[in-house]
Amino acid sequence: SQNKENYVPRSYLHTLTIDMLSARKLSLDDFDIGRPLGKGKFGNVYLAKVKKVDAIVALKVLFKSQMEKESVEHQLRREIEIQSHLKHPNILRFYNYFHDQKRVFLVLEYAPRGEMYKELQRCGRFDDQRTATYMEEISDALLYCHEKKVIHRDIKPENLLLGYRGELKIADFGWSVHAPSLRRRTMCGTLDYLPPEMIEGHTHSEKVDLWCIGVLCYECLVGNPPFETASHSETYKRITKVDLKFPKVISDGARDLISKLLRHSPTDRLSLKSVIDHPWVSSNSRRVLPPVPPAKKC
Ligand code: AMP
Repeated sequence: SQNKENYVPRSYLHTLTIDMLSARKLSLDDFDIGRPLGKGKFGNVYLAKVKKVDAIVALKVLFKSQMEKESVEHQLRREIEIQSHLKHPNILRFYNYFHDQKRVFLVLEYAPRGEMYKELQRCGRFDDQRTATYMEEISDALLYCHEKKVIHRDIKPENLLLGYRGELKIADFGWSVHAPSLRRRTMCGTLDYLPPEMIEGHTHSEKVDLWCIGVLCYECLVGNPPFETASHSETYKRITKVDLKFPKVISDGARDLISKLLRHSPTDRLSLKSVIDHPWVSSNSRRVLPPVPPAKKC
């Protein structure tokens, strides 16, 4: 019943909204704030509707005082600089930012299915199809990042969100270019995803991300990461020795993939392209790409 001349497909409307969000100088008045989505270290994340248009975003609120206390302003600038240039279906889109006296607001793509970490806790472990789909999605996203000379360095389920169709979205680029020192890292989080070269203090390259997706693949299929122990020093030892043990539940194909990613020498690790083409990934993956919006008229 719609007049064809006036009909604007939803996806196109969405592109216009994104352009508007990215190009304009924004303020809190541009949004209707909804429910909190989660709590972060420096503030909360809220669901928000862009006023006047049919678009939902996630608004991340960061308190300047808290960031100054921890000296992370520099890291935030990096994160904004990096993420605003990344446009990929499996990387959470960063639309824009603005600030007032006390807070910085990040306007981000909303990931309706939340954190992969919580989903893994809920399910215990994922099956081959779901894990292989994540492996294809993350490899494709990292291939794109590495082409742009961006190394993520902090891939783990806590930093991965899930989109409307359950697709993986890399969310946190906080550590990406400006890698923290080892001491800093060990103090603030899990060691389970640290590659041997970072523990041993060698220089590291984009191949750290290959190690991390090997750990991720294992954790998705088993429910816990491969080198987990009760103490930091034991975990260090297991990582540097690549003390890898597979429970019976892991299929031969997955075992083959994981053991080709978890190699001590970074140059021995399977490339991202080879992960995508690995028979276990290609036969199990159910990846669906989102529809591409039509090209803009001049
Ligand atoms: P963060 O400060 O980035 O750690 O975010 C805190 C929590 O908010 C996360 O653990 C998620 O549960 C939620 N969250 C953050 N960003 C988004 C988003 N873009 N879409 C949906 N939930 C989000």
